[in-house]
Amino acid sequence: MKAHQILISALLGAASLILTGCQQHTLFKNGSSDYSIVIAPEAPESEQYAAVELQNWIEQVSGVKLPIKDLKDGQKGKRLIVGFNPMTEELIPSAQKPADRDDSFTWCNKEGDILLWGGSKRGTLYSVYSFLEKELGCRWYSSKVSVAPKRDAWHFSKLFNHEEPSLMIRDNCVLDVRTQPVFSARMRNNFVKLPSLQEGKTIPGSAENYWGVHAMGYFVSPNEYYATHPEYFSLIDGKRQSDYAQLCLSNPEVLQICIDKMKNKMREEPDYLIYSMEQNDNTRPCQCEACQALVEKYGGESGIMLWFVNQVADAVKDEFPDKYVGTFAYQYTRHAPKDIVPRENVVIRLCSIECCMIHDYDGCEQNKPFVQDLKDWSAIAPHLYIWDYVTDFLLYCLPTPNWKTMKTHLQDYVNGHAIGILEEGDYQTPSCEFREMRAWILSKLMWNCNADVDSLIQDFTEGYYGAAAPKILEYLDLEERILRREGMHTNCYASTAHAMYSPEFIREGRRIMAEARAAVADNPELLKRVEKEELPLCLLQMEHLPLEGIESGADTMFQRVVQQEGINQMTEFRPTFNAAYYIESFKKMAENIREAPFFPATKVDAKENGVAYVRYEGPFKSTGEMLANGKIVKQGTMPTVTIEEDESIDHFGYVFDTWLKVEQEGVHQIRITTDDGTVVNLDDKEIINRDGSHSPEMETALVNLEKGFHKLSIRYFEDHEGQILDIQFATPDGYKGTLPEERLFLPTK
Ligand SMILES: [Zn+2]
Ligand SMILES: [Zn+2]
Repeated sequence: MKAHQILISALLGAASLILTGCQQHTLFKNGSSDYSIVIAPEAPESEQYAAVELQNWIEQVSGVKLPIKDLKDGQKGKRLIVGFNPMTEELIPSAQKPADRDDSFTWCNKEGDILLWGGSKRGTLYSVYSFLEKELGCRWYSSKVSVAPKRDAWHFSKLFNHEEPSLMIRDNCVLDVRTQPVFSARMRNNFVKLPSLQEGKTIPGSAENYWGVHAMGYFVSPNEYYATHPEYFSLIDGKRQSDYAQLCLSNPEVLQICIDKMKNKMREEPDYLIYSMEQNDNTRPCQCEACQALVEKYGGESGIMLWFVNQVADAVKDEFPDKYVGTFAYQYTRHAPKDIVPRENVVIRLCSIECCMIHDYDGCEQNKPFVQDLKDWSAIAPHLYIWDYVTDFLLYCLPTPNWKTMKTHLQDYVNGHAIGILEEGDYQTPSCEFREMRAWILSKLMWNCNADVDSLIQDFTEGYYGAAAPKILEYLDLEERILRREGMHTNCYASTAHAMYSPEFIREGRRIMAEARAAVADNPELLKRVEKEELPLCLLQMEHLPLEGIESGADTMFQRVVQQEGINQMTEFRPTFNAAYYIESFKKMAENIREAPFFPATKVDAKENGVAYVRYEGPFKSTGEMLANGKIVKQGTMPTVTIEEDESIDHFGYVFDTWLKVEQEGVHQIRITTDDGTVVNLDDKEIINRDGSHSPEMETALVNLEKGFHKLSIRYFEDHEGQILDIQFATPDGYKGTLPEERLFLPTK
């Protein structure tokens, strides 16, 4: 049914309500109800499931279990009519049967009867969920946390709601949705199949999804063809290659194999809507003359790809008029081609992997090339399908303030003719920041890209974090102010070293989250949910401000949360940097801090800031050799310890001497990165020795310093090749960075 037809029926319904004087009806009151749920006996399994869900959630709200009847038995009494059936046609004659795959839905009343319907695969089910959410206040915040508010009574006089999705295919690729089909259906994501009421089966055709990814390597696999037909694969540097390579797309036999196998796939697995005919996951296309001629002719590698995929689409069209062939605009094929356009039954899957996630596409320099590609493809592609990225894949838990841009990016996709989307999040591990809220809001936005994000955040935080909600909002506001400040951009591969994770952000974040914890201290379940959101702050504090982190228990909270949540994997590609690795490194850090040696201060009369240096030249292999045999070529003073101004490339060295003024007693951290050798002495005691000729090495010393002056002497030498002397300094009063010039004083005479 189209929107305008619905509107007409709504108007008819409204008119009849006016005539009947808007009579009030009661679905339930004080634990009893006159209503039954009615479905057609031939209703598909997803509608039977919808009836059971309606029964279950109304019971949780009201305490009444309504009977489920078929049409014949449900002729009398008041009814909730589930699915489009003869009773719907009788009560609302203007309503038309929706297509099975149509996810749009309607719910309304005709006098005392409530009718809920949509397409038979998913639409009716979504109608039921929408009714339960909007009218009865039910919420499914995650696969584990649902809310069914208890009510004594619920009355209505006029009901009407009709909704259509912004995108035909909505794939929220996060662990909690991909692995939880029921929750996925409640979120109106239609990539995951529903479990059947009959155990062990899924509801046939319930998901309009996308078969396969990078399927060219599956259709023409090196195992099957390389030995006999190396010419099917990429010619690279004069040799046919099948490792990390693509297919030779200009070869007509390759095309025929792909057509035959695609037809077989569509016959064997007819449930899907779109079938992958996508490049392998590498950037090594064929360099042969025939392929490159097509690349030239069609304005780039996407041109030959489309030329190939269009021929597959033409070949399957007659037998499979309702199906699509999908292909990538990804990495080397991301730019749109020239003088060729995708066929009507081709879907272009455009990937945003290079984009800045925290700014609108229009407002950010870094997104300009993608915006151009989106525009170019939108102009020629009848159907786009976006592969989008919404979290940090280098470290899933890192704060990623893309709440506002998840919406604007989605709106840009919908405006560019996207029919589907894959939102890639923490699909491997439950460790993404605000993972439940992110998944919930994304699902709402995929359904309606114009939904109001602030009210969604308000709804979720109140429902999920209870009394801590105002503090969670305050923390989200901090992320918005500090992480999205001027000049900060981030794609989906930010590390803990990203400049946006400043000490100010970490300290203020932990302060607010401590208040959030205090607000729910008497509720262990809510406390767990709040503590979980502090995990990234604990990790950032241990990395950037370890002294403060250990003092405030960031290490123990990190350990507790990963254990409570069952988190081990923390990154997409680097399995060794898992939760166990971080716990171990935090333990070592805490031990070192506890055992940090004490250094009493020296009374000196140092007034002038600066560092005294002596510069050496000569071939030497250690700082010892430098002192013994090096030639002193220069001495003087400079503001801090650095070799950056030195113009030599090889065979030089320095001795730096300064008095370090310590403002607050406690454990300080000195970390050097050196190439070649460095030796650091503090108050005439060696605290770091990375002497000798070598490539970059890093070492950290933790020292417990009395307030006052400490003699710091650093010997450095460069043998040959790279030269680095980087000194990082952290103090108990919160300073972190290079040696601060205002705390360095020239040696007294
Ligand atoms: Zn070729
Ligand atoms: Zn940006």
